Amino acid sequence: MSIFSKFKSEGLLNPRRLMGINDYCWCKSGKKWKSCHMNRENEKRVNFPKLYFQHESQFRRGYCAHPLSGPKSCSGPAISSHTIQKNGGIRAIAENGHVLSCKPQSSPFKEQSPLERSIEKIGVGRASTFPGFCSKHDNETFRYIEGDSFVADKRSMFLLSYRSLCYELYQKKVQLAFIPIHKIADKGMSFEVQEHIQQEVAAYEASINIGLAELQHYKNQADEILMKNRFDDIYGVYLEFSDILPVVASGASQVEYDFQGTMLQSLGYDDKILDHIILNITSFSGRSIAFLGWIGAQCSASRQFCDSFLSIDTTRVPDQLLRFSFDYFENTYIKESWWKALPPTPQKVLSWHRTSGIGERYPLSLCDDGTKWTSVTISNEVVFYPKGFAPRS
Ligand SMILES: [Zn+2]
Ligand SMILES: [Zn+2]
Repeated sequence: MSIFSKFKSEGLLNPRRLMGINDYCWCKSGKKWKSCHMNRENEKRVNFPKLYFQHESQFRRGYCAHPLSGPKSCSGPAISSHTIQKNGGIRAIAENGHVLSCKPQSSPFKEQSPLERSIEKIGVGRASTFPGFCSKHDNETFRYIEGDSFVADKRSMFLLSYRSLCYELYQKKVQLAFIPIHKIADKGMSFEVQEHIQQEVAAYEASINIGLAELQHYKNQADEILMKNRFDDIYGVYLEFSDILPVVASGASQVEYDFQGTMLQSLGYDDKILDHIILNITSFSGRSIAFLGWIGAQCSASRQFCDSFLSIDTTRVPDQLLRFSFDYFENTYIKESWWKALPPTPQKVLSWHRTSGIGERYPLSLCDDGTKWTSVTISNEVVFYPKGFAPRS
């Protein structure tokens, strides 16, 4: 169950048709009822698309996520940073300068089928970008992994993961910034609709706030590592492949179940900061590489998740890795010819993974169903585990 559905089923608000006009409104806006929901049914409906685009342009400017960012240290406004490096990474799977994106690219108001919305074509210049660093900090921070060669050390693993974390944090902030316009989407609607919309938005906001606090926690830890230039506290599994996988991805996510369906941690049921797994699939010099990892030696759920990943038969690892990226990370990009050559059933399965709801996870969603997505094989594996923990015996 996702945190969103948990809050939704709880019903965070206590909607009321009538209240004292000077009481604080049931929607928890902090306003008095008389200037909030008292007259909402008769208010003018909002032009949602227009508001949406106004809002979108505000956060398109972004910010520099570097710990030392500021007017004096940054080189200028945030640039469009690639979460997956453009040369090598995304270009390796591009055809005619394009890849397919698992992240919705078009406006939510464009008429599209669910399948079209789940997978969209995008130019490599735009794919995987976010306005997350100024040009100076972007270059300085990631230079080590931007060259033609790749050193499979902890510093590289950290830098790949750091960018994923900054991206996820930015995404959460964007989602939060949209909440105010969702909250006025019930203007001119009946009380029943107001109730429904406000409950949904309240659940959505609560779940975003939890995610935001968790990502901020990991980002703070990562900032400290970056500043100290000591990369001991990053752990996980690094893989090299025989060829180019048809997918690149970058992201961080809470993990609930492992590849065998075992529950690792329960989302949203206590105040604990949940373990996150950070995934990167990219490529260097004609072969794909992947890192599945976490920050902080004490994260036992992340370690168990990696244990579970390492227990998969080596021949099945590439397929299961793709499945994981489809299931968990919208910042995933696909080689178009590969996608088009997939038989209809696996194509549908993957699309379904993309559209199955906000962070909704099922115990068996990562269990291997034997589907063969790729013939690429593993050529090298390096495991970075905390002291005292041996992976796969
Ligand atoms: Zn209200
Ligand atoms: Zn900067």
